[in-house]
Amino acid sequence: MHILLVEDDLPLARSLVKALGREGFTTNHVATGAEALMTAKTDTPELVILDLGLPDMDGLDVLRKMNQGTRPLPVLVLTARDTIKDKVSGLNLGADDYLAKPFDMAELFARLRALERRTALLQTVKIAIGPVVLDTSTQEVEVDGELVDLTRRELMLLKTLMENSGRVLSRDKLEARIYGWDEELASNSIEVHIHNLRKKVPAGFIKTVRGVGYSIQALQT
Ligand code: CA
Repeated sequence: MHILLVEDDLPLARSLVKALGREGFTTNHVATGAEALMTAKTDTPELVILDLGLPDMDGLDVLRKMNQGTRPLPVLVLTARDTIKDKVSGLNLGADDYLAKPFDMAELFARLRALERRTALLQTVKIAIGPVVLDTSTQEVEVDGELVDLTRRELMLLKTLMENSGRVLSRDKLEARIYGWDEELASNSIEVHIHNLRKKVPAGFIKTVRGVGYSIQALQT
């Protein structure tokens, strides 16, 4: 899952990005409300972790503005322990859950998983293209009715391509989707994941468009 972390406490943010990465989340981090609003539009995160105490804007205003978009974003609010009143108004403004600081990483992961499940249930979509079926709520992939085992990156890659079937996605676009901004990556890492993914899906399912990128055709013959 692709997360936008809005947190101005940089040491905390750094350790969160690392810990979230180990848990299988891809996280992009910003430290201000203005950046958060811009990034929520351009980076299409699937979930937002929002600290309420930001240097440039009230986190509750950020939350309100974020929810004015066409696509409601699940938001987990982080707040200082003594601001109960903010928490309540945060929930009224459309936060999906909140966590008081300081918090336990295990608790954060549990909340994120729950939020991920809840969101997935609301928008359960099975994307079926030819013999390949991807269930976005269970994150399972079947080929000809048989479950296939994908790594987290392979799954994100396949999901991105299937959601955009019929369109050619560049390597940069795919990288932006499956890696966080700060992640070190080898220049050929998308090729490597595509190579491995191709062994698990039918031959010809993922097309290479030379010099442009990759695509999955909506209609498979
Ligand atoms: Ca803060």
